[in-house]
Amino acid sequence: MKETILKTSGLTKCYGKQKALDGIDLTVNRGEICGLIGKNGAGKTTLMKVITGLTCVDNGTFELFGKADVKEERTRIGCIIDSPAFFGNLSAYDNLKYYCILKGITDLTKIGKALECVGLTDTGKKKYRNFSLGMKQRLGIALAILDEPELLILDEPINGLDPIGIADMRELFRKLNKEAGITIVISSHILPELDSLATRFIFIDSGRIVKSLSKEELDDECRVSLNITCDDTSKASTILERYLGIKEYKITDSRTIKIYDPAQEEELRAALEKEGMQILSVESKGVSLEDYFRMIVGDRPESGR
Ligand code: ATP
Repeated sequence: MKETILKTSGLTKCYGKQKALDGIDLTVNRGEICGLIGKNGAGKTTLMKVITGLTCVDNGTFELFGKADVKEERTRIGCIIDSPAFFGNLSAYDNLKYYCILKGITDLTKIGKALECVGLTDTGKKKYRNFSLGMKQRLGIALAILDEPELLILDEPINGLDPIGIADMRELFRKLNKEAGITIVISSHILPELDSLATRFIFIDSGRIVKSLSKEELDDECRVSLNITCDDTSKASTILERYLGIKEYKITDSRTIKIYDPAQEEELRAALEKEGMQILSVESKGVSLEDYFRMIVGDRPESGR
């Protein structure tokens, strides 16, 4: 059975009259890479801040690693929310050493391990201020994983990186998830990236979760298909199998059947009509994550409230 490591119930948070979170019920299971998707101002950062203890909620509860007393359990979380503060005149190693002292981490071998994991072992005495943006982001990740967390919370960690930097980060997150077994909650506006990385997708709008689905479910919703609306889907499936050899299809309700096998609309219509079936519509569908996002939350420029 999947182990739940984060479970929130009815999280609500207001800034003055502004409702940033409006009853968030979220469950994250061990091993997932959970992508948070939402427009500017949807509430993603606020949710991450609540979980990591950077801000408090007005209402609602949450559990971490199965425990309602989350204070101790938060030590099992690593995060990047806003840019971490590093000293410009210190090296990568010395910056992390500073944080070891601050966090009470006595095992300094963890610094070398974290730097190796993010590919920053060769930076030697180079000062942080002379790092590229990609190196700075990597050091931020190294800080987040310094104390070997089980859950990583990353708020827009690939912002501003070039395509190679983004691809490097993607591989790093995959490695942390697969090899180190770290569960990840990540937000990003770069949807193709999230699409290729996340195993689950949470769509947030105006402080509410409007959709939650697994990668398989998302792929199924976005996959190219011919959707036939007709009077009898059971009969239609028999005809499609028998006369056109179609195997990959799904009956989604009593009137709609989705066909994933490559098929010609005219050929389908002819086969069904020959057997006396009434076809109400035939539509070709297939969308990107960005299209799907627009369908779920609409085209307003910011999260409307
Ligand atoms: P973005 O994608 O732009 O980072 P977001 O989904 O992370 O957006 P939040 O930063 O969580 O959204 O903001 C949610 C709402 O709460 C917004 O309307 C924002 O203006 C408001 N908000 C966030 N932090 C504060 C704050 N410290 N004081 C007042 N309002 C805030």
